[in-house]
Amino acid sequence: MIPPRTTRQIYIRDLPIGGNAPIAVQSMAATPTSDLKATREQIRILEAAGAALIRIAVDTKADVEALRILRSETDALISVDLQENYRLAADVAPLVDKIRYNPGHLHHHEKSLSVREKVAFIVDCAREHGCAIRIGVNAGSIAPEYKERFGEDHTGAIVQCAIDHCAMLDELQFVNYLVSIKDSDPRLVIEANTRFAAARPDVPIHLGVTEAGMPPDGIIKTRIAFEQLLSRGIGDTLRVSLTVPFADKGMEIEVGLGLIDDINAGRFRSVPPNFFEGLNIIACPSCSRVENERFVDLAQEVKRATEAHQDENLTIAVMGCRVNGPGETDDADIGLWCGAKRVNLKRGPQEVGSYTYDEILPRLQEEIAAVLASRA
Ligand code: SF4
Repeated sequence: MIPPRTTRQIYIRDLPIGGNAPIAVQSMAATPTSDLKATREQIRILEAAGAALIRIAVDTKADVEALRILRSETDALISVDLQENYRLAADVAPLVDKIRYNPGHLHHHEKSLSVREKVAFIVDCAREHGCAIRIGVNAGSIAPEYKERFGEDHTGAIVQCAIDHCAMLDELQFVNYLVSIKDSDPRLVIEANTRFAAARPDVPIHLGVTEAGMPPDGIIKTRIAFEQLLSRGIGDTLRVSLTVPFADKGMEIEVGLGLIDDINAGRFRSVPPNFFEGLNIIACPSCSRVENERFVDLAQEVKRATEAHQDENLTIAVMGCRVNGPGETDDADIGLWCGAKRVNLKRGPQEVGSYTYDEILPRLQEEIAAVLASRA
């Protein structure tokens, strides 16, 4: 049974989050936002599956215009995902119910302004239009000052970053916010969210294991984290991130709702033996920033092509775009981030080269052989 939670209640339009409100399950459109037909269909799929909130990424003015049209067509609660261009908050706030910003992306633009000034800008926009805010911290994009302060202690860095941003919003007297702290490793997600909840038991938490990858492993990773956290009363809303074809995105909602039911009923699953050993494929769930839809097929092809290496202690990350791809592949042994026409191959943080979608799999096999040979 999920115990009572102690967080304060916030509102995303009329949806209560936190306190004794039901745990809301949400997801994100994976299609390019300005492809109206495809994004409309994503919203329909997610709503039909039972999504309480639908997130859409907005990076450009064209995305804002698409969002304006989508807004006029749907009553769905919409959250928008801002990355580097935080000033778009002014354009999107009148159109959405929640704004998510990533503290790890605020240093890119307008370097003469402090992070606090940029946060104050986002808060002003949200306040004026009655939006909630999510402070969305991600271990794959740690803000430089926290990287410097915490070095290899990624958990310490992301927890402190979340705590500091909460303090900024508190100082700005903005209370309608929640926090997410995500990583692709469920053990880090458990540790970071437990520490954050101890430090800020009042702040509602959005749970997620990011880049969990393809089913079934992506579901198992998510389940490991959510069982541990929800059963301890940590988590007020959640998103399951799975790398699946765009038409199957409703699966994220179905899995999330099923997980809540299972945990409420005390149905826990044991972790498969040696789950954290051997080959680990990380893949982003895709969003409107995916530069080539072949990314989803490629992630599946990587999985099939590497089956022979199941027992190797090897992490391969496959990401869908240049916004988060370069940074979020740094910690993998081998990283692939997908551009419009070429796939960029990395070994750890080092660039190896870029290859066409047809060239990349044989090149990946060579790279795996080289990594394994270097360990022999
Ligand atoms: S890596 Fe890029 S495409 Fe994938 S979910 Fe993140 S922002 Fe979206």
